[in-house]
Amino acid sequence: MGFYPCSGHGLMFKGPAQAMYPALIEGGNSERSHLRFCKDCFADVIAQAEKVLTEVIAGAKPESANQRVCYLCQAEGARFALFVTAYPKGEEPRQFFGAVCADDLGAARAAWVEPGSPV
Ligand SMILES: [Zn+2]
Ligand SMILES: [Zn+2]
Repeated sequence: MGFYPCSGHGLMFKGPAQAMYPALIEGGNSERSHLRFCKDCFADVIAQAEKVLTEVIAGAKPESANQRVCYLCQAEGARFALFVTAYPKGEEPRQFFGAVCADDLGAARAAWVEPGSPV
């Protein structure tokens, strides 16, 4: 336990950090980051993920790449895969998925991979 800057509100906080590992993947290329959230921001981010992304459930069929529909604009054949893996303290990790088209790559990156950085 220590002080960390929260990836959500940007200020130092004390207490257990809740970790999130977003990744944007296209073929063999990926961009990943490691985010740390305070309790409140983590709850906000999870609520947003539940709203806009699809939770990955064990036993579910993976979507094939050409069936992917961009989670932002609903375009078909979205090439990029956004995975957000969250580790709530004391609970099972959860993973969320969203397909992203090339046009929305910047928006998805700003929302999930690099929150708090200028767009
Ligand atoms: Zn926060
Ligand atoms: Zn799109």
